[in-house]
Amino acid sequence: MILENLNSIAVKNPINGEILYNIGEISEKEAENIFEIARQMEVKIKALSLKERIAEIDKINKYVIDHQDFILDCIIAETGKSRTDGFAAEVFEVCDVIDVYKKKAPKLLKDKNIEVPIFLMGKKCQQWMEPLGTILVITPWNFPFYQVIVPSILAFLAGNAVVVKPSEVTPLQPLWNHFFEHSGFMKNAVQIIIGGKETGAKLIEQKPNKIHFTGSVRTGKKLMEICGPKLIPIDLELGGKDPAIVFDDINFDRTVNGIMWGAFTNAGQNCTGIERLYLHENIYDKFIKELVDKTTKLVTSSTSRNTKDPEDCDVGSITSPFQVAIIEDHIQDAIAKGAKVICGGIQEKGSHHIKPTILVDCNHHMKIASEETFGPTLAIMKFKTEEEAIKLANDSPYGLSASVWSKDMARAERVARKIVCGNVCINNHMLNEANPYLPFGGTKDSGIGRFKGDDGILTFCNLKSVLYDKQSSMVDPHWYPYKKSKYILLSNLMDSYFGKSKKWIKFAINGLKIDNVGKKEQIR
Ligand code: ADP
Repeated sequence: MILENLNSIAVKNPINGEILYNIGEISEKEAENIFEIARQMEVKIKALSLKERIAEIDKINKYVIDHQDFILDCIIAETGKSRTDGFAAEVFEVCDVIDVYKKKAPKLLKDKNIEVPIFLMGKKCQQWMEPLGTILVITPWNFPFYQVIVPSILAFLAGNAVVVKPSEVTPLQPLWNHFFEHSGFMKNAVQIIIGGKETGAKLIEQKPNKIHFTGSVRTGKKLMEICGPKLIPIDLELGGKDPAIVFDDINFDRTVNGIMWGAFTNAGQNCTGIERLYLHENIYDKFIKELVDKTTKLVTSSTSRNTKDPEDCDVGSITSPFQVAIIEDHIQDAIAKGAKVICGGIQEKGSHHIKPTILVDCNHHMKIASEETFGPTLAIMKFKTEEEAIKLANDSPYGLSASVWSKDMARAERVARKIVCGNVCINNHMLNEANPYLPFGGTKDSGIGRFKGDDGILTFCNLKSVLYDKQSSMVDPHWYPYKKSKYILLSNLMDSYFGKSKKWIKFAINGLKIDNVGKKEQIR
C-alpha cells in the first residue's frame, strides 16, 4: 500500500476507504514532453495502413479477453461497482465496440466519391477522411475503463495520436501500467496521463487538435470557454436526468423489471440512468407496489459482503464521497418539500452503500426531479394524458436519453419523437448505447456532438473535400475576365435551371455559349 501524501491526490477504495495509491499533477514541462511525443507519433500512426491499425486494436481485444478478471478487479477496487455492472458496461462493451469498428472503419475511412452538381459537369469530387493530429480525451470516474479505451480506439483507428486524462477519482493506474506492459499495443500511440484537473488544464494548453470530453455540465462549460479563444474543437458528453414514461398498457413484470434495472444499474451512476419515472394514473399504485417489492429483493454492495460470489451483487456502492453528499442532499431536499421515501433512503452517515431509493409525491421543484442525482434514486410522478407526460419529460435542462413503455407502438413512437433528447428507447432503457452502430450524444445541457455510429470515427477526422479537374487548354467560365456579356449568360443559365420550371433548351444553349466563352476568352 502506498502512503498518503498530503500534496497529492489519494485514490481510495470506496468500499473500505483504504488508500490504494497516490497520484499528483504533472508539470508544464511534462505536458510539453507528452505533446512532443504525441506529435511524433502522429506521423507514425498516419503512415500505418488501416490494416495495421486494426492489428493494433486486435491486441487490445486480446488483452481484454485474456485479463477480464484482472481488469474487473482493478475497476471494482476503485469504483465499488458490482461485478456484473463492470463486466457488461466496461469489459463486454469494449470488445463489442472493437468488433463493430473493425467492420465499420474500412468503409468509413475509404475515400468517398461525391456527386457533383450540373454546373460542375466534367469535374470529379471526393471526400478524404484524414486524421486530425492529436486527440485529448478527458474522462469521468463512472466507467473508467470503457470511457478511456473506446474514444482512444476510435481516434487511433482514424489515424490520430491520443492523449488521455482519466478522472483522478478512478485513474486505474495499476491497470494501465499492466496494459502497456502486456498488451503489446503500439508504444506511445495512446498516452494515459494520470492526474487531476490541473493536469487536464495543462494538457489543453498544449493545443490538441480536438478534445473529447465526458463529464459534468459545469466542467464541460468551463472547457468550452477555454477552448473558444484557442479554437480547439470539443465534443461534450455531459449529464442527464432521464425520464421514463410508462403507459397503462404494458406487460407488467417486464416493465417493472426494466424500470428497476434502468434506474439502479451501476448504482445510478450513469448519465443515462432513469432518474424520473412518469406513471400513468391507472397503474400508479399497482406498479409502485410491485416495483418496491422487487427493489427490496435486490442484493446491494453492503448486503452481499457476506456472500461468497461477488457476481451475486446487483447494486454496487457509490464511488466518491462527493457523490454520496449530492445524493443525500437530493433525498433530504425531496423529503423537506413533501416527497415520501417508500424504499431505501439515507444510510448511515458517510456510507457509500446507498440502497436503491424510491420516492413518491415528487414534483419538479425538488432537486431529485430536476437536477442530476447520479445515484440509485427514482423520483416517481403521476400523469393522466400523453401530452402531460411529454410536457413533464421535456421540463428539464437536460436532453440526453429517455424511454417510453407501452404495447401501443404507434403511441410509443409518437411520444418518443416528441421528447427532446439525443437517444430514446421504446420498451427498454439505454440499450441504444449498447449498439455501437448508433450515434450517441445529447441535446440541451447534455452536450454537443455525437459519438459512436459513423460519427465515432468521423468526429476524429479532418473531412477533406477534394475536386479533380483536367489539365485542358480551356479556362473555367467563372474565371477572369469578368464581362457583362458573360454575366448575362450566367444569369440566364441560372434562371433556366433554378427558375419556376426547368427550361432545358434555354439551359443547353446558354451552357454551350458559356463553354465557348471559356474557350475563347482568357486573359493572355
Ligand atoms: P465527473 O464528476 O463526472 O468526473 P468532472 O467534470 O468533475 O466530472 O470531471 C471530468 C474530468 O474532467 C476529470 O478527468 C477531471 O479531472 C477533468 N477536469 C475537471 N476540471 C478540469 C479543467 N479545468 N481542465 C481540464 N480537465 C478538467
